[in-house]
Amino acid sequence: MMDPFKGFGVTFSHMFRKVITTDYPFKPPVSAPRYHGRHILNRHPDGLEKCIGCELCAWACPADAIFVEGGDNTEDERYSPGERYAKNYQINYARCIFCGLCIEACPTRSLTMSNEYELARDNRQDLIFTKEQLLAPLLEGMSKPPHAMFLGDTEKDYYVGALENPGTSAGAERAPWSDAGTADAAGSAA
Ligand code: SF4
Ligand code: SF4
Repeated sequence: MMDPFKGFGVTFSHMFRKVITTDYPFKPPVSAPRYHGRHILNRHPDGLEKCIGCELCAWACPADAIFVEGGDNTEDERYSPGERYAKNYQINYARCIFCGLCIEACPTRSLTMSNEYELARDNRQDLIFTKEQLLAPLLEGMSKPPHAMFLGDTEKDYYVGALENPGTSAGAERAPWSDAGTADAAGSAA
């Protein structure tokens, strides 16, 4: 008997609350700094790729959303420090649940997640992001691989040096609109 009045009471109580209207897509809301969005494959400061094609991210993924095919570096054609690189790398965003287990599994900090959340597409094929789409852009001072190791003689030099100079893709880790958010551009969900 009282249920309809209880229902109207809930509606009535909401009439006096502050209205929150988002002017999307013209003013997209700023995501939290550690928001789990689109992935990034980061680079070393000289432009070489951090990914070593180990597939640990793919094995960690509960949704089977990642495909990695490793390849061998040679002295004439080098994409990353060390022996191996990712010849082919794909993430299927029709499967990804943005849990972040893949970035926890990555031993080189190659894989991080950005704040970009506009991932809707009108067909499934476009939801499969290729390595070219996921790779961080080349910043000033970086050279496009393949090229030699400019920052050391061995891969160890790169990882020891990374403690002082992470060389991640500053600028790619956050969506453009989130510059209005925190001043810290390191938006990866580390
Ligand atoms: S965020 Fe989770 S579901 Fe998405 S690719 Fe990584 S491990 Fe897989
Ligand atoms: S992103 Fe990281 S875990 Fe995945 S293949 Fe590359 S190095 Fe390995």
